[in-house]
Amino acid sequence: MSKKSPLVVANWKLNGGTDLIAASVASIRNLNFNARIGIAPPYVYISGLVNVLRNSSIMVGSQNISKFESGAFTGETSAQMLKEVGCDFCLIGHSERRQVFLENNQSCRTKVERALVAGVMPIVCIGENLQQYELGLTRDILYRQLHQTLDGLDLTGETLCIAYEPVWAIGTGKAASPEVVAEVHEFIYQELDAILGSAANEVNILYGGSVKKDNAAELLAINHVDGLLVGGASLDPEHFAQICAAANQVES
Ligand code: PEP
Repeated sequence: MSKKSPLVVANWKLNGGTDLIAASVASIRNLNFNARIGIAPPYVYISGLVNVLRNSSIMVGSQNISKFESGAFTGETSAQMLKEVGCDFCLIGHSERRQVFLENNQSCRTKVERALVAGVMPIVCIGENLQQYELGLTRDILYRQLHQTLDGLDLTGETLCIAYEPVWAIGTGKAASPEVVAEVHEFIYQELDAILGSAANEVNILYGGSVKKDNAAELLAINHVDGLLVGGASLDPEHFAQICAAANQVES
């Protein structure tokens, strides 16, 4: 079965620095990619990474953006600013933003709108927590996250990406099983189809949550898994390079 060209994104969270930039770029820049690769470092390293990756197809993104455009919002960074310094994409609604910084579907929606206006591709992160998973509420949660964030927006498939990240799989070392991933990604695809129509076929749906070099290929082989969002394993340049290499093997 032929698949979309996969997208693999490294989310460094509050980690990394110039040493990690040098080591990561050295380990992946000369791989000849069929897959698209992106790195989301902390804000302060974005410009440096963009400079190092000039003349490379590796994309650079941010882990968040402001829901505001400009003004008296101390500590915020706007979509327009991120575009200006060379960001190709931004994560929106990562579960840590939702849990620690109390973001919700409404603020995520505003952020998606800001990103689209600026020309920065939003990667909207969705996923249920452990309690919701155990109560069988996964579909309800994802339905609300998708529809409240995206319904009625002016979207094309190329300008949007979704990352399914079950909160219980993030940083735990226990990725969701292939059966769960297959079922949930099929559901997400169907909901995107309801929202976007045929443009849903262009949206890359990423899986994230304890992706490692040893499970990347298995996850990427699942229908409607069009890439991976990688946290912890992206901090090891060799491991991340192997995950990228697994994505490179996907026939598209
Ligand atoms: C993440 O937080 O986006 C993530 C996928 O983390 P990890 O790979 O460490 O589970």
